Amino acid sequence: MPEYPSTQLFLNGRWQPARDGRVIDVLNPATQQKIGTVSHAGIADLDEALAAADNGFRIWRDISPYERAAVLRKAAGLLRDRVDSIARIMTLEQGKPLAQSRLETLAAADIIDWFAGEGQRAYGQIIPARNPNTTQMTLKLPVGPVAAFTPWNFPINQAVRKLSAGLAAGCSVIVKAPEETPAAPAALIQAFADAGLPDGVVGLVFGEPAQISEYLIPHPVICKISFTGSTPVGKHLAELAGRHMKRATMELGGHAPVIVAADADLDQALSVIVPAKFRNAGQVCISPTRFLVHEDLADDFTNRFVEQAEAIKLGNGLDADVEMGPLANERRLAAMDALVEDAVESGAKLRTGGKRASNQGWFFQPTVLTHVAQTARIMNEEPFGPVAVINPVKNLDAAISEANRLPYGLAAYGFTRDSNTAARLGREVEAGMTAINHAGFALPEVPFGGIRDSGHGTEGGSEALDSYLNTRFVTHLH
Ligand code: NAD
Repeated sequence: MPEYPSTQLFLNGRWQPARDGRVIDVLNPATQQKIGTVSHAGIADLDEALAAADNGFRIWRDISPYERAAVLRKAAGLLRDRVDSIARIMTLEQGKPLAQSRLETLAAADIIDWFAGEGQRAYGQIIPARNPNTTQMTLKLPVGPVAAFTPWNFPINQAVRKLSAGLAAGCSVIVKAPEETPAAPAALIQAFADAGLPDGVVGLVFGEPAQISEYLIPHPVICKISFTGSTPVGKHLAELAGRHMKRATMELGGHAPVIVAADADLDQALSVIVPAKFRNAGQVCISPTRFLVHEDLADDFTNRFVEQAEAIKLGNGLDADVEMGPLANERRLAAMDALVEDAVESGAKLRTGGKRASNQGWFFQPTVLTHVAQTARIMNEEPFGPVAVINPVKNLDAAISEANRLPYGLAAYGFTRDSNTAARLGREVEAGMTAINHAGFALPEVPFGGIRDSGHGTEGGSEALDSYLNTRFVTHLH
């Protein structure tokens, strides 16, 4: 196998080029060199994917959850066996350090295993009837073929959450994976195929995202949409899904507040939150962004944060000991430049970083801005990059009020030794997920999702399976 494989479409159980032969170049973000290509689907290819998903669904829904779980667990085992080669592919196309690519691949195997078991627990209910001769029951049945749209920041994780919940529920799934990072999701699909998934149960397409979503979402074969990406695109797709009465899960952007209370343990807080900020070069929807630090601690917190940010080893993710790779694409680099420049023009202090880190590759320095005006763009737009904004706050009320100022509501973090403060953060910060004194998100068994402009639905825990099931009621008079 070449070091980096080019990727084709996976249609009806076979890897195939696009019918018209179109391909898109894939670049390595650490070198900006072309490393391969990915096939670009046209409408005829999408029609084949849809027909296969329709057939695949009819086969898969009738296979027992017990047998479905066996296939899924086999796929999880194959991912674990192949972790070294898959991680290398992911780092080549996405840029993240090899250790993070390995973790993502191994975590994907855990997610599959968990949903395999959960699919066997898709229990309906027997509901006590008013008449003793009547049996009333609910059945949990798969919604049908799913269209899943996944982004480039976690090429495998974003796809595996949708695939494992959907497949465990008995759905077929067409994945529209990212054109910039196609080979890692292709390796995931290959693991499912090698595990014995019947033809048509999964499909993988790439191409022009808007063309694909506008074709798949209204299509009568598709019964559910799941999208991970930015809030504007999510709103557009949710509107399209609504117009065609399709169920939708939307995992969108965030602007996570980090509230550091006056009684926080700073050593502990920094040991958790600095790595969380710069993981995957900040291109994470739950990345901590607005640090709201009690004014008594703000200078100490900032000085130590800056020191730790400056110590991060930046470089090609394939090199040993590298802690932060490049940004995944040129758009993010341009966005970082613009957001930092705007913040500084609005009076912010640039404490470290703020610049591109190399002439080759899309590297941006770990960056810390302080005293940033509420009107600066970075205080309102998701940075999705390695920039932390640290502002002092007078008290907990002011911190909570700033945390809730934006329409986003994905992740929030708090650091405190006081259980009453912790209880207030959990209740009053408007977020789908709040972590206090650690960064314990994203395990397969816990909910993962946002509220408000960050979307709706969850991609973890038992509710995630439920979103791929219809609850159907049957009443039987004997
Ligand atoms: P973007 O908004 O153009 O795209 C975001 C994702 O949506 C990409 O995967 C893209 O392929 C897909 N997409 C775009 N238009 C689409 C359409 N009409 N139909 C279907 N899919 C479509 O921006 P981008 O430059 O790729 O990423 C930048 C922003 O996206 C970030 O600032 C961040 O807010 C958001 N993002 C969020 C996540 C997440 O994990 N929630 C992941 C990646 C990007």
